[in-house]
Amino acid sequence: MKIGLEVHVALPTRSKLFCGCSTAETQEPNVNVCPICMGFPGSKPSLNESAIIIAKSIADALKCKIKDKISFVRKVYFYPDLPKSFQITQLQDSIGMEGELTLDSGKSIRIRRVQIEEDPAKIIRGEDHSLIDFNRAGIPLVEIVTEPDIADKDELKSFIFVLKAILYYIGVDIDREIKADLNISLGKERVEIKNVTGTKNLIEAADYEIKRQGELIKMGIEPIKETRSYDERTRTTASSREKETDEEYGYIYEPDLTEYDVKRYPVKTSINPVQKAKELALKHSYSENSILEAIAFDRQALETIEENQDKFEFKTLMQAINEIKRFKVGKLDDESLRMLIDEIAGGFQIDEDVIKSVIEHKKVEHNRVSSSELDRQIREFIDKDRRIIDRYKKNKKLVDYVAGEIIKRYKAQPKEVLKRAKEILDSLVK
Ligand SMILES: [Zn+2]
Repeated sequence: MKIGLEVHVALPTRSKLFCGCSTAETQEPNVNVCPICMGFPGSKPSLNESAIIIAKSIADALKCKIKDKISFVRKVYFYPDLPKSFQITQLQDSIGMEGELTLDSGKSIRIRRVQIEEDPAKIIRGEDHSLIDFNRAGIPLVEIVTEPDIADKDELKSFIFVLKAILYYIGVDIDREIKADLNISLGKERVEIKNVTGTKNLIEAADYEIKRQGELIKMGIEPIKETRSYDERTRTTASSREKETDEEYGYIYEPDLTEYDVKRYPVKTSINPVQKAKELALKHSYSENSILEAIAFDRQALETIEENQDKFEFKTLMQAINEIKRFKVGKLDDESLRMLIDEIAGGFQIDEDVIKSVIEHKKVEHNRVSSSELDRQIREFIDKDRRIIDRYKKNKKLVDYVAGEIIKRYKAQPKEVLKRAKEILDSLVK
């Protein structure tokens, strides 16, 4: 099986690719517009340089060869979302060529090309009419084209995960969902599924298409070369009659934009969180997956780990990171982090109050019993009256009595007492 992707990512620039219009999202249609992004005759584009910096950073993170000089082309086609009848994009002189992305399994997926292009306008279809919103026209996009190296659904998932994580560290907003064209071939011919939005839909579309082609082949039918579209409601793909194939598009050089010297622009350093997780896991003999889960989309977590990895026991540090994430409290200052780690190392349960008092008051009021102390007390209570074990055998609800007594005596944390009391009683009746 061969799967290839063309992923479109919106770049986080403040203004559009070829004009000064805002890229801010707004409900009101056609407010962020001007003659350039509406394609009025005689209007001339001028390139937003911050789009080059971000695109170059993406190409760099994907280990592409970066062109010294880039230029643009017009992809000519007629469609209502494109009043000037062409989209400005890149072809041979794309910003990045021949890169690769390494999946968490270690396998590399080759990247054919990273190119800069403008988004067309948005068509809103009604019953008997269509509306066009030009707010989206001219939003800078990067298109990432892979070779068909993705072998199955799991690799597709992994590819998207790693790509999104890398983009996150370049500052590309992952909340703006990715859009992609997917090509899948189980047989000899390539089937393309156009314009799938969002990771979930992408996986589902691939899933459906893999099954569909697999069944055809099982029946002795070769899947034909075609373009299909994905229907989110039925979660199926259907043949769509697209007139243009790649060969039929007219491409001409864009005379309104010159060549750009890419060497002049800086690269934002990017981090591959998969690589980072591997390094940290190796150094601290800790689960790579747990580290990756913590840092994939969390720069603050990564910084906290890197700054403190040699100061604390790594396992406790990771537990602290997970608590910080659970309560969404952002990055802790050194003192708060140290206190939180002390609490965890002492076996205390962390809840919202503890986190709060650590951050706000730099102290924790202890009306608390550590896990090991709690166990000792529960066992001691049972030891004093061994009949409890027999009674528990007959009636499991007795655990409430045991837990209740402990809570009363020591004012310890109820949830945890109940949980431990049950565990200890269960182990004793065996
Ligand atoms: Zn504009």
